[in-house]
Amino acid sequence: MPITLFTEAVAGECATVTALIPPNLGPHDFQATPSDIAALSKASVLVKNGLGMEYFLDKLTDSAENDSLQVIDTSRGVAVIESDEDEGGDHDHDHDHDHGEVNPHIWLDPLRAVQQVENIRDGLVKADPDCADGYTQRASAYSDQLKELNTTFATQLKPFSGKTFIAFHDFAPYFAERYDLKAEFVVDVPDMNPTPADLQRVSNRVEQTQLKALLSEPQEGDRSFNAVAEDLGVNVVTFDPLETGSEEASKQPDTYFKVMKSNVASLIKAFGG
Ligand SMILES: [Zn+2]
Repeated sequence: MPITLFTEAVAGECATVTALIPPNLGPHDFQATPSDIAALSKASVLVKNGLGMEYFLDKLTDSAENDSLQVIDTSRGVAVIESDEDEGGDHDHDHDHDHGEVNPHIWLDPLRAVQQVENIRDGLVKADPDCADGYTQRASAYSDQLKELNTTFATQLKPFSGKTFIAFHDFAPYFAERYDLKAEFVVDVPDMNPTPADLQRVSNRVEQTQLKALLSEPQEGDRSFNAVAEDLGVNVVTFDPLETGSEEASKQPDTYFKVMKSNVASLIKAFGG
């Protein structure tokens, strides 16, 4: 969904943006239908997060046989963090759409999101030079908002510098790095159920870090956090990694700011602030 939001913000009235992944589904759960291939065969530009998030795309673009399709990889030039293989538990999961070697959740760092917006701008300008001024103006306005958001978060989170928080899946390393926090997670991808060993690890970390709340996420299938939280006497608050959302929210570029502000408020609560 973040890519849809960023593209919508830059495209404005110059282009029609269609989300390939339905907003209520996370990229980890997506399965393409023939109508997706039909849509791709007619599209001029395809915008992707990159870094393996859209593991399904190559096959899809091959089937669409659209020679004029221009692909914008929003992760171009973005500094990446490798996926932490050890922290996610020592069990070896067998799933075909893991995050790969590089963690793809770059959009959760507002300054990396600026780079994504700039990549989208450059790609759209190239694909549709007639509207270059519009793309440039809108990208710059949206980037300014992202930078402002970053400044606000840096101030709000400064008192918690160095602290650890625990998210449900492995989405938080870029966000954590930006604000000098440490992120741990329960499972690699959201559709996995935590094992008893995962839960034991979480409960140990909660005790060590004296976290006041665990961070759950909207798409978390298993409510396992609630039981652990109850055992440990801590609360559960929501940190939404923006992988899913309502149809309406996915059309409003402002959704990013609303959700991120509420995430930071939750995080401060988790730290007992
Ligand atoms: Zn994810």
